[in-house]
Amino acid sequence: MSTAKTSCSSLMTTTFSARYTRLSRFLAGLTAAVMTVVALALLPYADLPAERVALLVPVFSSVQATLNAVIAYLVVLQFYADRKYPTALISIGFAFSALLSAIQIVSLPGVFTEGGNFERFAPIAIWLWVARLSGHALLILLAMLVLKGRPALLASERSVGYQTAVFAIMPVVLAVMVYAFLGYNRDLLPGLMDASGSYSGLAHGRAGYFMLACWTLALLGILLVTRLQRGFDCWLAFSAYSYILYLIVNFTSASRFTIGWYTSRFFELAAAATLLGALLFEVLRMQQRLKKLYSNAYQASIRDGLTGLYSRRYFDTALARELAAAERSRRPLSLLMVDIDYFKQYNDTHGHLAGDDCIRRVAASLLDGFRGSDIVARYGGEEFVVILPDTGRELACQTAERLRSQIMALGIPSVRPADANEPVVTVSIGLSHQPPGAEPRKTMQTLIGEADDALYKAKRQGRNRVVCAAERTDG
Ligand code: GH3
Ligand code: MG
Ligand code: MG
Repeated sequence: MSTAKTSCSSLMTTTFSARYTRLSRFLAGLTAAVMTVVALALLPYADLPAERVALLVPVFSSVQATLNAVIAYLVVLQFYADRKYPTALISIGFAFSALLSAIQIVSLPGVFTEGGNFERFAPIAIWLWVARLSGHALLILLAMLVLKGRPALLASERSVGYQTAVFAIMPVVLAVMVYAFLGYNRDLLPGLMDASGSYSGLAHGRAGYFMLACWTLALLGILLVTRLQRGFDCWLAFSAYSYILYLIVNFTSASRFTIGWYTSRFFELAAAATLLGALLFEVLRMQQRLKKLYSNAYQASIRDGLTGLYSRRYFDTALARELAAAERSRRPLSLLMVDIDYFKQYNDTHGHLAGDDCIRRVAASLLDGFRGSDIVARYGGEEFVVILPDTGRELACQTAERLRSQIMALGIPSVRPADANEPVVTVSIGLSHQPPGAEPRKTMQTLIGEADDALYKAKRQGRNRVVCAAERTDG
C-alpha cells in the first residue's frame, strides 16, 4: 500500500506518533481480552436472576445516550477538521444511537410518573433498541465502505461548515424517520418479548442474528479498512467488539434482571466510555501539538533563518516597545548598529557560502556578548542591530567596544588587514542613545538614523571602530 493511500485509509487525520498507535492497539487489545474472559466466565451464570433494580433501565439508557452524544459531537468536530465523509458517517452513527436511546427512555411506560413502571416494557421500546443497535453498526459499516471506495474524497474547504451542520442534523432526521416508521407499524410489528418478560424469541430469532451480523460486519470493516493505523481506529474497533460481546452476553440470558442482562449493560457502557476516553485523550494531545506548532511557527516568524537572531520585523516592534517603556520609566536606552567591514570583498574572495558562515559566526559572537534583556537582531545582509534597554551612553560605548574586540578576536581570515595586523574580519559600530527623561523624546526613526549616521562615520574614519552619535568615542 502506498504512503498516500495509507494516510487516506485511516480515520482522524491527526498524525500522532506511532508510539501512541502501538499503545492504543495494546491497551484496546488487552481490554478486549479481559472483557472476553469475563464474558466467557459469566456465560454459564447468565440466566441466573439477580436483584431487580428497575430504575437501572432509564439510568443506563440516559448514560448511554449522553456518552454517545458527546462522542458524536467530538467526531463531527473532527470531520470539520479532516473533511472526510467517513468521519461524518461515524458521527451520525453515534448521534443516531444517542437519539434512539433518548426516544427509548421516553417510550418506557410511566417514565415520568412517580415510581415509574420500568418493569413493563413497551413493545415499541424493544424495537427501538433493535433499530438503534443495528442502525449504529450499519452507519459505521457504511463509513468503512466509503473509506475503502473513495479514500481521497474530501468535503470542500469552503463548504465544510455548512456540511458539518447538515451532518449534525441528519441523525435527527434518521431517528425521527425510524420512530415514525415503528410507530406507524406498531400493530404489525411482531412482539419481541413475551408476557413473562422473556426475550428469547428476539435472542434466537432473526432480529437477534441480524444485530450480531451488523456489528460483526462493522468490526470486520474497521479492521480491514483502517488496519488500525491510528489510536482512534483501535478504540472504534474495540467499541464494535464490545457491542458484539454485549449482544452475546445479553442473548445468552433470555430475560431482563438476570446476571447476563446486567453484565451486558456494562459491556455496552464500556464500549462508549472507552471510546470517549480515547477521544478526549486525543483532544488533549491535539491541544499540546497545536501549542507546540504555534510556538514553532511564532519563533520562526520572529527569527532570522540564517543566524537565528531576531528578525528585522521583530526588531521594529521591539524597538517601539522598548522606547515606550524607557519613556514611561524615565530610563536610558541605547541602540547599536553593527556592520561587517569589506564584506563584499570577503564574499568575492571566499564565496557566498563562506560569507554565510562568516555572518553566522559574527552573529553567534554578538549573541554571546549581551545580556538576556538586550535584543540582538539581523537588520539585513551583514548588518546587525542591538537594543540595549536601561543602558546609559558610557556603558553602551564600553559594550560596543568589547564587542568589536571580541569579533576581531574570532580571527576569521579576511583579505583586508585590521590595524596593520593579520587580515581578519572586523566590524564597525554606530551607537545612538536616548538619555533618561530627555525632551523632546526621540522617535524610532531618529534613533535608527543617528546610529546609521554614526556607523557611516566609523566607516569613513577607517572602519573597525565604534562611533557614538555626534561624537566619536573610539578609534
Ligand atoms: P563596508 O565595509 O563599507 O561595509 O563594505 P561592505 O563590502 O561590507 O559593504 P556592502 O554593503 O557594499 O556589501 C555588503 C555585502 O554583503 C553585499 C552582499 O553581497 C553581501 N551580503 C548581504 N547579505 C548576505 C548574505 O546573507 N550572505 C552573504 N554571503 N552575503 C551577503
Ligand atoms: Mg559591510
Ligand atoms: Mg552593509
